Amino acid sequence: MNMLIMGAPGAGKGTFSRLLREELNLNHISTGDIFRENISKGTPLGLEAKSYTEQGKLVPDSVTNKMVKDYLENLTDKKNGYLLDGYPRTIDQAKAFEEMTKGTDLAVDTVLVMDVPFEELTRRITGRRSCPKCGEIYNIYSNPPKVEGVCDHDGTALTQRKDDNEESLKTRLDEYSKNTEPVIGYYDEKGLVSHVDALGDKDEIWTRIKKVLNI
Ligand code: AMP
Repeated sequence: MNMLIMGAPGAGKGTFSRLLREELNLNHISTGDIFRENISKGTPLGLEAKSYTEQGKLVPDSVTNKMVKDYLENLTDKKNGYLLDGYPRTIDQAKAFEEMTKGTDLAVDTVLVMDVPFEELTRRITGRRSCPKCGEIYNIYSNPPKVEGVCDHDGTALTQRKDDNEESLKTRLDEYSKNTEPVIGYYDEKGLVSHVDALGDKDEIWTRIKKVLNI
Protein backbone atom coordinates (compact mmCIF):
# COMPACT_ATOMS: atom_id res chain seq x y z
CA MET A 1 0.00 0.00 0.00
CA ASN A 2 1.31 3.46 -0.90
CA MET A 3 -0.57 5.83 1.33
CA LEU A 4 -0.74 9.54 2.02
CA ILE A 5 -2.02 10.67 5.41
CA MET A 6 -3.51 14.15 5.37
CA GLY A 7 -5.20 16.47 7.83
CA ALA A 8 -4.70 19.83 9.53
CA PRO A 9 -1.86 20.34 12.03
CA GLY A 10 -2.89 18.53 15.21
CA ALA A 11 -5.30 16.15 13.44
CA GLY A 12 -3.28 13.16 14.65
CA LYS A 13 -1.25 12.31 11.52
CA GLY A 14 1.92 11.58 13.52
CA THR A 15 0.21 9.47 16.16
CA PHE A 16 -1.67 7.26 13.71
CA SER A 17 1.21 7.06 11.25
CA ARG A 18 3.19 5.34 13.98
CA LEU A 19 0.43 2.75 14.42
CA LEU A 20 -0.14 2.31 10.67
CA ARG A 21 3.53 1.79 9.84
CA GLU A 22 3.70 -1.02 12.44
CA GLU A 23 0.41 -2.59 11.42
CA LEU A 24 1.19 -2.57 7.69
CA ASN A 25 5.02 -2.66 7.66
CA LEU A 26 5.34 0.58 5.71
CA ASN A 27 8.16 3.10 5.35
CA HIS A 28 6.97 6.12 7.30
CA ILE A 29 8.17 9.32 5.68
CA SER A 30 7.31 12.54 7.53
CA THR A 31 8.57 15.64 5.74
CA GLY A 32 8.14 17.66 8.96
CA ASP A 33 10.33 15.16 10.86
CA ILE A 34 12.99 15.28 8.11
CA PHE A 35 13.04 19.09 8.26
CA ARG A 36 13.25 19.08 12.08
CA GLU A 37 16.09 16.55 12.04
CA ASN A 38 18.03 18.62 9.50
CA ILE A 39 17.42 21.81 11.48
CA SER A 40 18.69 20.25 14.70
CA LYS A 41 21.80 18.94 12.90
CA GLY A 42 22.37 22.31 11.18
CA THR A 43 22.65 20.82 7.67
CA PRO A 44 22.31 23.09 4.58
CA LEU A 45 18.74 21.78 4.10
CA GLY A 46 18.02 22.57 7.75
CA LEU A 47 19.38 26.10 7.41
CA GLU A 48 17.20 26.65 4.36
CA ALA A 49 14.05 25.33 6.06
CA LYS A 50 14.49 26.83 9.55
CA SER A 51 12.91 30.25 9.18
CA TYR A 52 9.89 28.86 7.31
CA THR A 53 9.11 26.06 9.76
CA GLU A 54 9.55 28.27 12.81
CA GLN A 55 6.99 30.73 11.48
CA GLY A 56 4.62 27.96 10.42
CA LYS A 57 5.09 28.74 6.72
CA LEU A 58 5.54 26.09 4.05
CA VAL A 59 9.09 25.45 2.87
CA PRO A 60 9.31 26.27 -0.89
CA ASP A 61 8.12 23.48 -3.18
CA SER A 62 11.46 23.17 -5.01
CA VAL A 63 13.29 22.37 -1.75
CA THR A 64 10.62 19.99 -0.47
CA ASN A 65 10.18 18.13 -3.76
CA LYS A 66 13.91 17.54 -4.08
CA MET A 67 14.10 16.24 -0.53
CA VAL A 68 11.29 13.72 -1.13
CA LYS A 69 12.79 12.67 -4.47
CA ASP A 70 16.19 12.03 -2.84
CA TYR A 71 14.52 10.09 -0.07
CA LEU A 72 12.63 7.84 -2.47
CA GLU A 73 15.66 7.30 -4.69
CA ASN A 74 17.65 6.11 -1.69
CA LEU A 75 14.96 3.81 -0.37
CA THR A 76 16.55 0.38 -0.50
CA ASP A 77 13.99 -1.60 1.49
CA LYS A 78 10.57 -0.76 0.04
CA LYS A 79 8.73 -2.86 2.71
CA ASN A 80 4.99 -3.13 1.87
CA GLY A 81 4.96 0.42 0.53
CA TYR A 82 5.10 3.83 2.16
CA LEU A 83 3.10 6.12 4.36
CA LEU A 84 3.80 9.69 3.45
CA ASP A 85 2.93 12.13 6.23
CA GLY A 86 2.92 15.87 5.50
CA TYR A 87 3.49 15.69 1.73
CA PRO A 88 2.21 16.73 -0.78
CA ARG A 89 0.94 19.93 0.82
CA THR A 90 0.38 22.01 -2.31
CA ILE A 91 -1.07 21.24 -5.74
CA ASP A 92 2.38 21.83 -7.28
CA GLN A 93 3.89 19.27 -4.90
CA ALA A 94 1.12 16.79 -5.80
CA LYS A 95 1.88 17.25 -9.50
CA ALA A 96 5.63 16.96 -8.94
CA PHE A 97 5.08 13.81 -6.89
CA GLU A 98 2.95 12.30 -9.62
CA GLU A 99 5.73 13.02 -12.09
CA MET A 100 8.34 11.43 -9.77
CA THR A 101 6.37 8.23 -9.27
CA LYS A 102 4.74 7.81 -12.70
CA GLY A 103 5.32 4.36 -14.11
CA THR A 104 7.01 3.12 -10.92
CA ASP A 105 5.70 1.00 -8.06
CA LEU A 106 5.64 4.15 -5.93
CA ALA A 107 2.40 5.67 -7.24
CA VAL A 108 -0.12 6.65 -4.55
CA ASP A 109 -3.01 4.25 -4.09
CA THR A 110 -4.74 5.50 -0.91
CA VAL A 111 -5.22 8.89 0.71
CA LEU A 112 -6.40 8.88 4.32
CA VAL A 113 -7.78 12.22 5.50
CA MET A 114 -8.12 12.83 9.25
CA ASP A 115 -11.05 15.19 9.86
CA VAL A 116 -11.01 17.37 12.98
CA PRO A 117 -12.90 20.65 13.49
CA PHE A 118 -10.54 23.65 13.54
CA GLU A 119 -11.70 24.65 17.09
CA GLU A 120 -10.22 21.42 18.51
CA LEU A 121 -6.80 21.90 16.92
CA THR A 122 -5.49 24.68 19.19
CA ARG A 123 -5.97 22.50 22.29
CA ARG A 124 -4.27 19.58 20.61
CA ILE A 125 -1.35 21.60 19.32
CA THR A 126 -0.60 23.57 22.46
CA GLY A 127 -0.89 20.41 24.60
CA ARG A 128 1.33 18.29 22.34
CA ARG A 129 4.61 16.95 23.72
CA SER A 130 6.91 14.32 22.23
CA CYS A 131 9.83 12.14 23.17
CA PRO A 132 13.00 13.22 21.36
CA LYS A 133 14.38 9.69 21.74
CA CYS A 134 11.62 7.31 20.59
CA GLY A 135 9.23 9.81 18.95
CA GLU A 136 6.18 8.84 21.05
CA ILE A 137 3.58 11.63 21.00
CA TYR A 138 1.59 12.70 24.09
CA ASN A 139 -0.93 15.40 24.91
CA ILE A 140 -0.95 16.95 28.36
CA TYR A 141 -4.77 17.25 28.24
CA SER A 142 -5.97 14.14 26.46
CA ASN A 143 -3.12 11.62 26.49
CA PRO A 144 -0.66 12.54 29.26
CA PRO A 145 2.39 10.41 30.13
CA LYS A 146 2.17 8.38 33.38
CA VAL A 147 4.73 10.68 35.03
CA GLU A 148 4.48 14.35 34.13
CA GLY A 149 7.07 15.50 31.59
CA VAL A 150 8.75 12.14 30.89
CA CYS A 151 8.29 9.44 28.27
CA ASP A 152 6.53 6.24 29.45
CA HIS A 153 8.84 4.08 27.33
CA ASP A 154 12.31 5.37 28.10
CA GLY A 155 12.05 8.07 30.80
CA THR A 156 13.42 10.78 28.46
CA ALA A 157 12.28 14.37 29.19
CA LEU A 158 9.48 15.30 26.76
CA THR A 159 9.86 18.32 24.51
CA GLN A 160 7.50 20.71 22.78
CA ARG A 161 7.89 21.61 19.10
CA LYS A 162 9.02 25.18 18.54
CA ASP A 163 6.17 25.78 16.09
CA ASP A 164 3.49 24.41 18.48
CA ASN A 165 2.37 27.81 19.72
CA GLU A 166 -0.78 29.78 18.96
CA GLU A 167 0.94 32.28 16.69
CA SER A 168 2.57 29.76 14.34
CA LEU A 169 -0.56 27.64 14.47
CA LYS A 170 -2.57 30.46 12.94
CA THR A 171 -0.16 30.62 9.98
CA ARG A 172 -0.11 26.82 9.71
CA LEU A 173 -3.91 26.66 9.60
CA ASP A 174 -4.00 29.41 6.97
CA GLU A 175 -1.44 27.51 4.88
CA TYR A 176 -3.52 24.38 5.31
CA SER A 177 -6.79 26.00 4.16
CA LYS A 178 -5.19 27.85 1.29
CA ASN A 179 -2.71 25.30 -0.06
CA THR A 180 -3.34 21.84 1.36
CA GLU A 181 -7.12 21.42 1.32
CA PRO A 182 -7.14 21.73 -2.49
CA VAL A 183 -4.76 18.73 -2.59
CA ILE A 184 -7.49 16.60 -0.98
CA GLY A 185 -9.79 17.65 -3.85
CA TYR A 186 -7.06 16.74 -6.34
CA TYR A 187 -6.91 13.15 -5.03
CA ASP A 188 -10.67 12.98 -4.53
CA GLU A 189 -11.12 13.44 -8.26
CA LYS A 190 -8.94 10.38 -8.74
CA GLY A 191 -11.19 8.41 -6.35
CA LEU A 192 -8.38 7.75 -3.85
CA VAL A 193 -9.63 9.53 -0.72
CA SER A 194 -11.07 8.00 2.48
CA HIS A 195 -12.10 10.32 5.31
CA VAL A 196 -11.98 9.37 8.96
CA ASP A 197 -13.62 11.23 11.85
CA ALA A 198 -10.57 11.96 14.01
CA LEU A 199 -12.42 13.28 17.06
CA GLY A 200 -12.56 11.04 20.09
CA ASP A 201 -10.10 8.87 21.98
CA LYS A 202 -7.15 7.16 20.39
CA ASP A 203 -8.61 3.61 20.43
CA GLU A 204 -11.88 4.77 18.92
CA ILE A 205 -10.13 6.62 16.09
CA TRP A 206 -7.81 3.67 15.45
CA THR A 207 -10.83 1.34 15.10
CA ARG A 208 -12.38 3.75 12.60
CA ILE A 209 -9.15 3.98 10.59
CA LYS A 210 -8.85 0.20 10.35
CA LYS A 211 -12.46 0.04 9.21
CA VAL A 212 -12.15 2.64 6.45
CA LEU A 213 -8.89 1.10 5.21
CA ASN A 214 -10.21 -2.41 5.47
CA ILE A 215 -7.19 -3.66 7.44
P1 AMP B 1 4.61 19.00 10.21
O1 AMP B 1 5.48 18.26 11.17
O2 AMP B 1 4.05 18.12 9.14
O3 AMP B 1 3.55 19.81 10.90
O4 AMP B 1 5.56 20.05 9.43
C1 AMP B 1 6.25 21.06 10.16
C2 AMP B 1 6.71 22.14 9.22
O5 AMP B 1 7.62 21.59 8.26
C3 AMP B 1 5.63 22.81 8.41
O6 AMP B 1 4.96 23.85 9.12
C4 AMP B 1 6.44 23.36 7.24
O7 AMP B 1 7.18 24.50 7.61
C5 AMP B 1 7.44 22.23 6.99
N1 AMP B 1 6.90 21.23 6.04
C6 AMP B 1 6.60 19.93 6.30
N2 AMP B 1 6.15 19.32 5.21
C7 AMP B 1 6.13 20.26 4.22
C8 AMP B 1 5.73 20.25 2.86
N3 AMP B 1 5.26 19.15 2.26
N4 AMP B 1 5.88 21.40 2.15
C9 AMP B 1 6.37 22.52 2.72
N5 AMP B 1 6.74 22.61 4.01
C10 AMP B 1 6.63 21.48 4.76
